[in-house]
Amino acid sequence: RKLGYAIVGLGSYATRQIMPRLKECEHAKLVALVSGTPEKLERFGSEYGIPKTHRYSYAEYDRIRDNPDIDIVYVVLPNALHAEYSIRASQAGKHVLCEKPMAVSVAECQAMIAAAKKAGKKLMIGYRSRFQAHNLRAIELVRSGFVGKPRLITSEHGFTISPNQWRLDRPLSGGGSMMDIGIYSLNAARYLAGEEPIEVSAMESTGKADPRFRTVEDRIDWQMRFPSGALAACVSSYSSNHNAYRVTGTEGWVGLEPATAYEGQQMWTRTKGKTEQVTLPVPAKNQFVGQLDHMAECVLTGREPIVAGEEGLRDMRLIEAIYRSAREGRAVKLAKA
Ligand code: NAD
Repeated sequence: RKLGYAIVGLGSYATRQIMPRLKECEHAKLVALVSGTPEKLERFGSEYGIPKTHRYSYAEYDRIRDNPDIDIVYVVLPNALHAEYSIRASQAGKHVLCEKPMAVSVAECQAMIAAAKKAGKKLMIGYRSRFQAHNLRAIELVRSGFVGKPRLITSEHGFTISPNQWRLDRPLSGGGSMMDIGIYSLNAARYLAGEEPIEVSAMESTGKADPRFRTVEDRIDWQMRFPSGALAACVSSYSSNHNAYRVTGTEGWVGLEPATAYEGQQMWTRTKGKTEQVTLPVPAKNQFVGQLDHMAECVLTGREPIVAGEEGLRDMRLIEAIYRSAREGRAVKLAKA
């Protein structure tokens, strides 16, 4: 049978990227909606054929417990609400897929992991690039030694943010570009390196006169040192557009641009003095469908998601270390997790 997803938060990402893709899934389907806006419940409820019994306001949220059609709750709310709504879903006996960033602190991530564990249910984080063909190929190439020994990873993510949105309001976002888009630079550096950083060193650049950045940071640039000696140089920005990474090793490099966009990934490699563009066949499932089906398959088979809560926690530990390094103006050594 196809497992039933309830979507919590009917904002842009949920309604434009996720809900349409659930129709293409092999192991999952949309069965319920949770929103604070009655008009959205009505509009998307009728569009997707969700009966009134399967439409919930936030006040009614805990009643998902009594709905056996809901197997998985997908939390697509502003960052500061991720922990609360994920934990309540676990307590209602549901599996949870939660958007990135997992939450806004290490303590919240730990509470989410504990709640899912106590309920005996799965917890996965929405790291969709781990289901994207070019990203998978890049990981494979690096692991197979195609670039030799990795020495430098550059990973840049940013966009020019428009004013007046929850992303710029710290109580809802938990932070600035780092929480929203910089996390792609961080997560990619880690999956490309295939090892965990031991030291970070960060610098923040925020024009405090810009009304957009009254409560959150604009830019953070940081470096990470890995046990092998490889370094990552990463960019997170709310005032310039970036979406690229490159892994340079002793024998060549592999690079993607755009790297983690919704679509349009392009890939180049260089070895033996020759640069080539790599074209990949169109996969049967795009990254959104791959992610949604992976969670359903993990529930069906009992396997752990490849991006479980622990993966979100690792990123959050590093985000806290990056902020600390920038604040204190010194490198921060990381304890082995
Ligand atoms: P959005 O603003 O479009 O949607 C957020 C939704 O939450 C809205 O429908 C809003 O009404 C609702 N909401 C509920 N309580 C709220 C409150 N107290 N304050 C403000 N809004 C409230 O945002 P989005 O772009 O859809 O982002 C939602 C989440 O999805 C974020 O965590 C974001 O990081 C994540 N996201 C992930 C990707 C990805 O590619 N994986 C892309 C975009 C967004």
